[in-house]
Amino acid sequence: MTKLSIPVEINVEAKPNLLGFDREAMESYFASIGEKSFRASQVMKWIHQQGVCDFAEMTNLSKSLRANLAANCLVEVPEIIEDRLSNDGTRKWLLRVPGKSAIEMVFIPEESRGTLCVSSQVGCTLDCSFCATGKQGYNRDLTTAEIIGQVWLAKTLLAEQYQTEQRIVSNVVMMGMGEPLMNFDNVVSAMRIMQDDFCFGLSRRRITLSTAGVVPKIDMLKKACAVSLAVSLHAPNDELRNVLVPLNRKYPISELMAACNRYVADSQRARITFEYVMLQGVNDELEHAHQLAALMQTVPGKVNLIPFNSFEGIEYQRSSNSRINRFRDILHDNGVIVTVRRTRGDDIEAACGQLAGDVMDRTRRAEKFRQKQAEKIQ
Ligand code: SAH
Repeated sequence: MTKLSIPVEINVEAKPNLLGFDREAMESYFASIGEKSFRASQVMKWIHQQGVCDFAEMTNLSKSLRANLAANCLVEVPEIIEDRLSNDGTRKWLLRVPGKSAIEMVFIPEESRGTLCVSSQVGCTLDCSFCATGKQGYNRDLTTAEIIGQVWLAKTLLAEQYQTEQRIVSNVVMMGMGEPLMNFDNVVSAMRIMQDDFCFGLSRRRITLSTAGVVPKIDMLKKACAVSLAVSLHAPNDELRNVLVPLNRKYPISELMAACNRYVADSQRARITFEYVMLQGVNDELEHAHQLAALMQTVPGKVNLIPFNSFEGIEYQRSSNSRINRFRDILHDNGVIVTVRRTRGDDIEAACGQLAGDVMDRTRRAEKFRQKQAEKIQ
């Protein structure tokens, strides 16, 4: 499908968007308008289970309440501006969000599950050296409605594609654009809506939040919404990780590992997934594998090796299969649980690290990256 241009911003009304209200917010909203708290669950079911956005259709509410809601609030989902289907069944959508920007979400179907990869920010502030989103710069955090709106839209659109009543989105990974822990409150509210039995009813284990390692927020997450945790490690020592993941200069590996241990401290079964992008000649040497194996003895975790996905203007290269296998074998031989992520959707730029959207950059990062590319070409 061709890419459509993003229309000029329309000034959105300041009415509250009930799509983004978790149970607590919805109950306090109904209390504030003098209604009983069970109205909250009724409205949440209409919105998230039935996919109804028009208050007039919410037939178990009184006519006067429906009119009141229609006058004072709305249920608004992000607008789709592009919809692409990969040869392997992966589907990617570009969604318009206020601020003259667009974000991306990806659905990855597998035999026994369907995983939706959700974005949390318009761009990202972290600037990991190998990530396409980072090169786009940053515009703003997504609202709760914009985050949960991705799940709402995917559920609706996939029901049309697959024509089945089955739960098609069985898992959600907060691994799209942005650093979810840098948009903590909105991400937590959205994950609460994902878990709510009146909404999507996903268990904690079926929701994974991936972070580059915002240490204090990992502790906060455990208290607020203890979902499965993935950590983007990518390097086994601080010297290298400082280069690949600049956030490491603030929260070095030892502090990150301590936070990971605290996160799983009172659960015997819980494990952290450590993601490790495979960059040829950068972080895939024998010594790195041994260092990583040693690090993994200090935390209950498993390693997921991600073959690097390239994008325009980036100089890194994906490690060869033989190097990836060698790395995997060393970890395995040292007792580490390790998997290699199968690349999905790369024909439509939907693979890990390729999500770019359309970011009205407020930093000067995107411009600098383009300048560097232009200098190289000359
Ligand atoms: N900011 C969060 C969420 C992004 S998740 C985080 O860093 O975890 C996206 C995952 O894809 C992360 O593990 C990220 O490091 C990885 N990734 C980024 N760029 C990539 C690339 N070009 N190829 C493969 N994986 C990449």
